[in-house]
Amino acid sequence: MDGSALTSCAAVIILLFLPLGASDDRLVPGRALSPGNTIVSDDGGFALGFFNPSNSTPARLYLGVWYNDIPELTVVWVANRDTPATNTTSSAPKLSLTNNSNLVLSDSDGGSRVIWMTANMATAMVSSTPTAVLLNTGNLVIRSSNGTTLWQSFDHPTDTFLPSMKLGINYMTLTTTGRMVSWKDTSNPSRGRFSYGSDTNKSVQLFLWDVEHPVSRAPPWTGYLGKQQLLAATNISDLIIYLAYVDNDDEAYISYSLSEGAPRTRIVLTYYGEFQAQSWSSRSSAWVVLWKFSTVECSRYNYCGPYGYCDETATAPTLATCKCLDGFEPSSTEEWTSGKFSAGCRRKEALRGCSDGFVALPGMKSPDRFLLLGGGRSKYEECAAECSRNCSCVAYAFANLSSGARLGGHVTRCSVWSGELMDTGKVGELNGETLYLQRAGMGESETKGKRTKSNAVRIGLPIVGSGILVLVCISFAWLILREKVTFNIMGAGKNKKGTKRKKIRFEGMSISDEFENENPPHDQEFPFVRLEEIALTTHNFSELCMIGRGGFGKVYKGMLGGQEVAIKRLSRDSQQGTREFRNEVILIAKLQHRNLVRLLGCCNEGDEKLLIYEYLQNKSLDATLFDESRKLLLDWATRFHIIKGVAKGLRYLHEDSRFTIIHRDLKAGNVLLDADFKPKIADFGMARIFGDNLEHANTQHVVGTYGYMAPEYAMEGAFSTKSDVYSFGVLVLEVVTGIRTNSISQTMGFPSLTVYSWNMWKEARTNELPDSSILDTSPDEVLLCVHVALLCVQENPDDRPLMSSVVFVLENGSSTLTSPNRPAYFARQTAAMNQIRTDVQTSVNSFTLTEIEGR
Ligand code: ATP
Repeated sequence: MDGSALTSCAAVIILLFLPLGASDDRLVPGRALSPGNTIVSDDGGFALGFFNPSNSTPARLYLGVWYNDIPELTVVWVANRDTPATNTTSSAPKLSLTNNSNLVLSDSDGGSRVIWMTANMATAMVSSTPTAVLLNTGNLVIRSSNGTTLWQSFDHPTDTFLPSMKLGINYMTLTTTGRMVSWKDTSNPSRGRFSYGSDTNKSVQLFLWDVEHPVSRAPPWTGYLGKQQLLAATNISDLIIYLAYVDNDDEAYISYSLSEGAPRTRIVLTYYGEFQAQSWSSRSSAWVVLWKFSTVECSRYNYCGPYGYCDETATAPTLATCKCLDGFEPSSTEEWTSGKFSAGCRRKEALRGCSDGFVALPGMKSPDRFLLLGGGRSKYEECAAECSRNCSCVAYAFANLSSGARLGGHVTRCSVWSGELMDTGKVGELNGETLYLQRAGMGESETKGKRTKSNAVRIGLPIVGSGILVLVCISFAWLILREKVTFNIMGAGKNKKGTKRKKIRFEGMSISDEFENENPPHDQEFPFVRLEEIALTTHNFSELCMIGRGGFGKVYKGMLGGQEVAIKRLSRDSQQGTREFRNEVILIAKLQHRNLVRLLGCCNEGDEKLLIYEYLQNKSLDATLFDESRKLLLDWATRFHIIKGVAKGLRYLHEDSRFTIIHRDLKAGNVLLDADFKPKIADFGMARIFGDNLEHANTQHVVGTYGYMAPEYAMEGAFSTKSDVYSFGVLVLEVVTGIRTNSISQTMGFPSLTVYSWNMWKEARTNELPDSSILDTSPDEVLLCVHVALLCVQENPDDRPLMSSVVFVLENGSSTLTSPNRPAYFARQTAAMNQIRTDVQTSVNSFTLTEIEGR
C-alpha cells in the first residue's frame, strides 16, 4: 500500500460527505468549496474535496482528488501537500476560484490565510468568467469561457501518474512535465524522499531520486519515434495498458490509456520509493500490484562504477553482470572478483591525446552526465567531428530522433562526454544506442569500419523491426526505469519473429519464445514464463529470496504478474526433455483442488527447469507443528481440518482427477498452510515431472522420507496409492501428537510413532496421545483420527483403506471400523532398517539393487 491509499479510515471518510449533486463537477467564481462538500466529475469517477489523512484533531485538512467510485480512499492528487489547513470552529478552509482564474485555498487561521493557490500567469488576458472543472480523467482544469485550458492539476502531479497524464519534457520551455514526488508516509502527503521524472539538467532521461541522490536512471530517449499510440498490456481481467510515446515539435512525453471497461489503474511512487502499477480489484476490494520497479543490482545508479557497465543482455546463468568498457580493466581486481564494483574500471593504456580514435559500442545505455550539443549538428559526421576536435571529449553518441512520422524539421541529439563515464549499461540494440568511446591505439580506419556498421544497424531497425514492439520496449524501459517487465502485447502485437503472441491467464507474465516456437500452442492458457522475469523477481536467485530447500531443489519467493509466488528451481537431475517436461507440467497444472497447491506456471530455458506455485503464507506444516511456540497456533479444530483437508487432496489425486497421481512423498513438509491454516498438498506430480510417471509399479529409484515410507515401497520399490495411504496415516499421527515420526526420544522408547500409537491404542490410552499444547481436544475426534491412522499404516497394503473411505469416515464418523492390525514397522523395523542400509551401500556398484533415497 502506498502513501495515497488509506485503508479503513472511518473518521477520514466522514469528510467525504455527499456530493453536491450530479451537476457539481465545477467551481465558478463566487462559489466556494468547503469541508464536507465535494466536486464530482461528470461520470462520478473522481471527487475533489478535503480529507484528513492522519485523522487528527483538530483536523489537518488537505485538498485533493480521489477515486469516487471505489470504497478505499485513494488520493491521486493533493493541492496543499506541504501546508495542511486547520479545520476548527473558528477556522474553516475553503477553495474558491477568483475572477482572474486562480484557485485559492484559504482558511481563517489568525485572520485570513492563503494556504495554496495556482500561479496562473495567463489570467491577466482573460476577461470572461473562468471555470474550474474536475474532468472524468481526474484532471482538475481551469478553463476560460472560450474553453482554453489555463491551468491543470495534471501538470503538477503528486505521487500518482494517471492515464492521459504526461511525463516528459517541453522543448519550447525546456521544462519537465510531470515530476512525481512520493508522500512522506501513508498519512502524510507532504513531499517525501523519493521523486521520479526528467532530470534537472533538462536532458531527456528519467531518474528516480532518493532526496538528491539518483537511485536509478532510465536510458535516454533513443531514436525510435513517431506520433502514434502504442500498446502493451497486462491481462488482469480486461486490462490492457496502451502506452503512447509522443514526440512533436513542442514536447516529448509518455502517457498511457486503458482499454474500455478496464478496472481503475494507476502508476504510483510509494512513500518507500517503489514505482508501482496498481489495479483495483473489485473482487478482493483492494489494489493489486501489477508490477513494480525492483531493486535489482543493475538498475541501481552507477552500480558498476566509473567506466564499468552493467551487461543486461547477458543470459542465465550469469545474467546481469558488471564489465569494463572496451580498453578498460577493473581498478581493483580483488574487489571486482568479490562482487564489489563501485570502484569501477581504469584505462589499460593511457590516451595519447587527440590522435586516438573511437570504438563503436552498439546497444548501450549511454552514460550519465553528458553535454547536449546544439548548433545544428544534425548529422552524425558533425557530431563525431565535434568530439574529435575537442581533446577533452572522451565519448559521444548521436541519435536521430526524427525517424518517425514527424512533421517539420529533424530533431537530432549529439551527446558528448568529457569526464568519467558513469552509470553505463548494455541494453541491446533495440533499446540502446551506439556509444563511441575513445580508446588508446584506435586508428581512424578501425573507427570508421565499426562506426559504419553500427550506424547501419541503428538506422535500419525502425524500418525492418517490429515498430510496435520496439516502441513498447523503449517506452516501458523509459517508464519503468529498466524494469524488465514484459507485458503481453495484445491485438496487433507480434513479436519480432512474427509469431502472434498468446493471451495467457497468469496476469502480467509473458510467454517464453522457446515454447511458442517449438511447440504449437495447443494449450494456450498455460503460462510459460521467461527465465529473465524469474531471475529478476528473485534477484537472480539470490539467497535473500530463498524460502526453502527440498529434495527437488531450492525454493524462492517472488512476485509475478502482481501475485506472490513460490518458485521451485529444480535440480538438474530431471531426465526429461523440454517437450516431456512441458507436457507433464501442463498435465499437473490441470489438477485443481482446494487442498492442492496451485501450479501457476513454469519455465524451461536451457538447463533451467522452474515451477511456479501459488505462495502460501504459513509455509509447511512441519514448521508449525514441530515448533514449540508456533504449535500453539494449531488448536484441535485446526488440526482436524488439516487432517480432513489433506485426506481430500489425496483422494482427489488418487481417485477423482483425470489420471491417478501417486504422491510418493507425502509428509508434514509437503503440506503447506495458507493464511487461514488451510492445508494444501505440495509436490504432487513431482515423480511425473521428474520423468517417472508410472501409476503402479516397481521402481529402482525410491524417493521418499524415512518414517513415512510404506515398507513395501522402502523394501521392494513397489508403490501404489496404498503407499500414499500409509504416509497419510503417519502424518495423521504426527498432527494429533505433535511428535515427529522418528523421534524416539518423544515416543516413550518405542522405535517409532506408529508403534507408540498402536500400543497406546491397544491399551485404550488414546486420550493420552494428543499434543499437550492442544487445550481443547475432542476425545471422539481424536479417537477417530488415531483409529483411521492406524488402519492406514497396516503392513499389508490391501488392508489399508482407500482415501475415499478415509474421507467419508473422517467427515461422518463410524462406529463400525475394523480393528487395525499391527503397523508395518512393528513387525519389520529392525530388519527393514538394516536392509535399507545394505541396499544403499551395495547399490553404488550394482545396477540391480534398489537404490534408496531417504531424506
Ligand atoms: P522435499 O523436497 O524433500 O519433499 P520440502 O517439501 O520441504 O522437502 P520443497 O517442496 O522444495 O521441499 O519446499 C522447501 C520449502 O520451501 C518448504 O518447506 C516451504 O517452507 C517452502 N515452500 C515450498 N513451496 C512453497 C509455497 N508454495 N509457498 C510457500 N512456501 C513454500
